[in-house]
Amino acid sequence: MIIKDTEFGEVIVRKNAWVKGVKFSISTSGRLQMSVPKYTSEFLAKRYLKSSRDAIRQQLPVKDPASQRARDYQKKQLMKKAREYLPYRLEYWAKRYGYQYEKCRLSHANTRWGSCSSNRTISLNIGLMKVPEPLRDYVILHELAHLNHMDHSKAFWAEVASHDRNYKAHERKLKLFSPGV
Ligand SMILES: [Zn+2]
Repeated sequence: MIIKDTEFGEVIVRKNAWVKGVKFSISTSGRLQMSVPKYTSEFLAKRYLKSSRDAIRQQLPVKDPASQRARDYQKKQLMKKAREYLPYRLEYWAKRYGYQYEKCRLSHANTRWGSCSSNRTISLNIGLMKVPEPLRDYVILHELAHLNHMDHSKAFWAEVASHDRNYKAHERKLKLFSPGV
């Protein structure tokens, strides 16, 4: 449920069977988010919001509605770019080094650049579109190497190194960027 609020913009209301009281937090887009017990009505949610207004102002960095929308737009653009690039880049490297994966998924997690699951699905973060190409390629090669080694063993790193001699520097530089949009 979304509540439109004149001060906070769109407020995301999440109903959760396990929540007892009301909890406020900030979503990745900078929107105010409230967790409420499962059977909370819109009327009641609005009342909670009203009575917590001062506390929210003091404690939570809610972005103004214009910045919330700007961030939505930015994310949409990044997703579009990523969709036109990352699956093809993955395919390119996979073909070149003879890897077979099942599926390419695009993600927008805040903490991971990529992952490789045991069902051979490779996830790549759309935030990769913001980093220099050698770092982007490093992430792709790293995830492809996981198809053969589901760990970070010596054998895994040796395989990464055989495709990307500078992988250590790339790994280090990647830490200067954040995957979140
Ligand atoms: Zn890894």
